[in-house]
Amino acid sequence: MATANEGLGASVWWPNKDTFADEPDSQRVAITVPDSMVNVSNGRLRSRVRNGDGTTTYEWFVHEPINNYNVAVNAGSYERYFGVYQGEAGTLSLDFYPLRIHLADARRQWAQVNPMLACFEKWFGPYPWYRDGFKLVETPYLGMEHQSAIAYGNGFQNGYLGRDLSGTGRGLSWDFIIIHEGAHEWWGNSLTASDAAYMWIHESFANYAENIYVECETGDKKAGAEYVIGTRRLVQNDRPVEGTPGVNDEGSGNDHYYKGGNLLHLVRQLVGDDEKWKGILRGLQSTFRHQTISGAQVESYIARESGLALNKVFDQYLRTTKIPELEYALDRGNLAYRWTNVADGFDMPVLVNIPGRGAVRLRPTTDWQRDSTPLATLDGFSVDDNWYVTSKQRTRPGR
Ligand SMILES: [Zn+2]
Repeated sequence: MATANEGLGASVWWPNKDTFADEPDSQRVAITVPDSMVNVSNGRLRSRVRNGDGTTTYEWFVHEPINNYNVAVNAGSYERYFGVYQGEAGTLSLDFYPLRIHLADARRQWAQVNPMLACFEKWFGPYPWYRDGFKLVETPYLGMEHQSAIAYGNGFQNGYLGRDLSGTGRGLSWDFIIIHEGAHEWWGNSLTASDAAYMWIHESFANYAENIYVECETGDKKAGAEYVIGTRRLVQNDRPVEGTPGVNDEGSGNDHYYKGGNLLHLVRQLVGDDEKWKGILRGLQSTFRHQTISGAQVESYIARESGLALNKVFDQYLRTTKIPELEYALDRGNLAYRWTNVADGFDMPVLVNIPGRGAVRLRPTTDWQRDSTPLATLDGFSVDDNWYVTSKQRTRPGR
């Protein structure tokens, strides 16, 4: 028996202040089940009391703030085994709860927890819940980021139910639910959106974290990029990523994963310095640790720490459904270029490959500009794949 109520609202099964905007500083969870079952909830097990009437009460305690949809019941015929992780904040206890019949499968597949923690601590900072530990709990549904007690139902196989969401093959060497839901401990659980409208903070960073994991696993930045770029095929651009605040509107429940992840990948290119980018990700975590925050706070933090004017970039990708298009042409022996499909004043730099010159960073605006270096042909001209934009060759600059 299990619970999962993100989006729907936790008040469907327990009375609470059902809002993103506030979190209790701690949470007691006491669940009574038949003696034959074990209940696993969030935090640490405080007591287990046999009531003498065929039921047992499991009392769990979460020592840190928790958003209401993360509070969970998992009751079943669980087996338990332990692990440890030596991390940035000391020794972290790992508790694993597969169903008894899946113990061997879990011991094999769930070994991915340690490398997940190592990768994400490196990129995002210390795991946020050393006091409450880390748990992985088998559930009858695919998965959910239940704080310090991640729900797992991916069938003890790699990929997303055995498939690769990116279509590149890069998603088949790791377990999607361990990596994606694990990333939510940082993005969603420690840093929680203060309104459903900013759910993109949870899912964009979790999607982005998948490519960071590929980079950790392979030691190859290009492999990670290939993965996140591959997930673009799932972007719909039917609704803006960000919702309307104040009315329980999550925005695009699809695009806040793949488009949001690609937006972050694009911002990494704009920052152009991986150590600085890592510092920004870790800085977001340390600055807003265990807090509820708005999208605007995330955007302005990244802009300030990077020193880049990113407001128009965030506006474009989070609040419109239009993807910038780079128009280019050969104009009397020179390259001419501009942005279209963007708001006025959009002037994001872009990396292009120019025949005979290699990679060149341009700074297009919405007006046509001409490059001063003579150019004979546009054959072989391309926009760097890491930029989530489209491009179109024109015969000549024009409106
Ligand atoms: Zn997620």
